[in-house]
Amino acid sequence: MTNIAIVGAGPSGIFAADELLSGLADIRVDIFDRVPTPFGLVRYGVAPDHLKIKSVTTTLAGVLADKRVSFFGNVSLGQDISVDQLRESYDGVLIATGAPLPRSMGIEGENLPGSRSAAEFVRWYNGHPDSVPITDFSAAKKVAIVGAGNVSLDVARILLKGKSGMAATDIPDEVLDALGEVSDVYVIVRRTVSDVKFTLSELIELEKMHDVELIVDPTDIRLDSQGEHRYENERPVTRIVDKFRAWSTNRTGSEQDSKRLHFLFGRTPVEIAGTDHVRALRLQMSSGQEQVLPVEGIIRSIGYAGVRIPGVPWDEGRALIPNECGRVLPRVYVSGWIKRGPSGIIGTNKACAMESAGLLLDEINKLQPDNERPTMRRLLHDRLANRDDSIVDWEGWLRIDNAEQERGRMSGRERVKIVHREDLLSLGSTRLAK
Ligand code: NAP
Repeated sequence: MTNIAIVGAGPSGIFAADELLSGLADIRVDIFDRVPTPFGLVRYGVAPDHLKIKSVTTTLAGVLADKRVSFFGNVSLGQDISVDQLRESYDGVLIATGAPLPRSMGIEGENLPGSRSAAEFVRWYNGHPDSVPITDFSAAKKVAIVGAGNVSLDVARILLKGKSGMAATDIPDEVLDALGEVSDVYVIVRRTVSDVKFTLSELIELEKMHDVELIVDPTDIRLDSQGEHRYENERPVTRIVDKFRAWSTNRTGSEQDSKRLHFLFGRTPVEIAGTDHVRALRLQMSSGQEQVLPVEGIIRSIGYAGVRIPGVPWDEGRALIPNECGRVLPRVYVSGWIKRGPSGIIGTNKACAMESAGLLLDEINKLQPDNERPTMRRLLHDRLANRDDSIVDWEGWLRIDNAEQERGRMSGRERVKIVHREDLLSLGSTRLAK
């Protein structure tokens, strides 16, 4: 019997488990997560109105329900277990802890009240147990979002849809009540229209928003020679530039629209102005001029960073675990955003996880089994069973899942998420057999 530990029950951890299960019949996979619930980025990263993307949960749940897999929710790497303990208790260890931290812009005013990272904002609107309530935007009319990635578009959509537009989703009630009535969102892009990281389907989705006009200044999206070259030679760039060109010349929406989504290109944020709260965003334009944009809120959506884990090497600049095709140390592998940085869609994690899990299996197959490890694994489980905090196993998650769906039925929605850790634990806690 081969025993594997996976840390992180998000898509990359679960896709890796799936690969391991298909590669070896005589295997046990223990999956640990610091939150009491499974599904990581799918539950706490994908926007609540992206139900189609969330439907991958069914596939992921099928893997976790396999008899050879055990889920251990509310167990934190670095706090409850260490990489060293896992290495001595399992034949292989795969770390898939993602990249949950915000990156810093390094400008004055970044931490003023009213300035939030997308990491905080996304955690909040997705009902993450470690989220803090955000009321900064409840009374705001004008909000700037810095960054030209898909997370910026998620945040823009949610702010502009507001309570009425998000009411049918699984968004927590307390978030719905605090969404407010934002009328103008400014997406700030520091480079040109040919450099954005938005994807076309996410842009097309914006056109379908009710009561929102999309505003792009045609002079803002002129291409430089490098941009022209990419426009001519790179199909995704062509389609994205064409989309912005179309928006800049044809009105999207109608005169009755009460909300606007503005895209501003070639503007680098240099200061967030205000004394006790955000009052404006000061921007350096590529023309050399300066612009002061009066806003009451700012969301910094400029990418994510991983959390350093003791016991494995760390790449400070890229904020990830350095690896070769997923291999970090003997019998220790990584997968997902902690392996390659915060990029790609959920499906990207499948190929990424298959590579790492495949190489891990190859390595284990070449080694002599260590008869001590099953004993060490049992001792580790005993230690977890004896600690004060409880664990949520797969059955525990199913109780939470049922309760969320029941809440949803009562309010005509598919699900209403349970947010607070103590509520999740009171429903899902399991005492491990000692
Ligand atoms: P991202 O795609 O890497 O975009 C980050 C953006 O921040 C870039 O436009 C970058 O500009 C900008 N930026 C970085 N530092 C900046 C600074 N100091 N000042 C101003 N702008 C700065 O990251 P993300 O939006 O967080 O998304 C992460 C991943 O999740 C992406 O792969 C994304 O596609 C994926 N995702 C997918 C979906 C979906 O499929 N629906 C939804 C959400 C997220 P530069 O290019 O100039 O560096």
